[in-house]
Amino acid sequence: MNIMLLGAPGSGKGTQAEKLVKELDFIQFSTGDLFRKEISNQTKLGVLAASYMNEGNLVPDDLTNGIVNEGLKTQSDQLIFDGYPRTLNQAIALEEMLTNLNSKIDYILFIDVDKEILLDRIAGRMICPKCKASFHLTNRKPKVDGICDFDGTKLERRPDDEPAKVLVRLETYEADTKPLIDFYSSRPGFIHIKATDMDVDSIFAVIKKGLNK
Ligand code: ADP
Repeated sequence: MNIMLLGAPGSGKGTQAEKLVKELDFIQFSTGDLFRKEISNQTKLGVLAASYMNEGNLVPDDLTNGIVNEGLKTQSDQLIFDGYPRTLNQAIALEEMLTNLNSKIDYILFIDVDKEILLDRIAGRMICPKCKASFHLTNRKPKVDGICDFDGTKLERRPDDEPAKVLVRLETYEADTKPLIDFYSSRPGFIHIKATDMDVDSIFAVIKKGLNK
């Protein structure tokens, strides 16, 4: 079974993906994490991707579809697509790649959060560079300030979490990614979670119920 998470930056896709991995044995397939790995390994692709990411822009579709195609060669089931697809072109490319692998998306979870609170959430976000766990300065504090609860690594702020870059990312979401909601909303397995006033665990409970787990 494969799951796709849709939602704006800061909507909590990564946090829910983390729980799906821990509790239900899914594997997170995050294009953002894949690109950040390339960046930390200083590959050619990483250098190129960073030039887009650091400004809050999308990495071009051909590069993004390429990294996904590579990733799907090792695993094409039990995945959570987090942050991919983000454009209609990517959605169409993904359908083709999965069909070729005899696989498909079974559930599409749209985590719908009011725009007004996204900026604030991202502004306080801190990430563990090692295990990718996400914390928040006020909403989800680590046990020790600035340190990851899980592996003791020093938490970092992502370069694209700076407010000016976040605004660009939210605009890009509205223009390029939001149309995907229409594209997927009539599919079987589409679940719309109105998550603005829900905490992490309540959202996860809705997800589990939706997946019949
Ligand atoms: P967030 O959901 O908080 O924006 P991500 O880690 O998913 O965080 O993405 C960070 C950045 O990585 C994006 O702003 C974009 O530059 C790049 N990126 C990730 N996924 C894609 C994608 N599917 N298409 C294009 N660019 C992407």
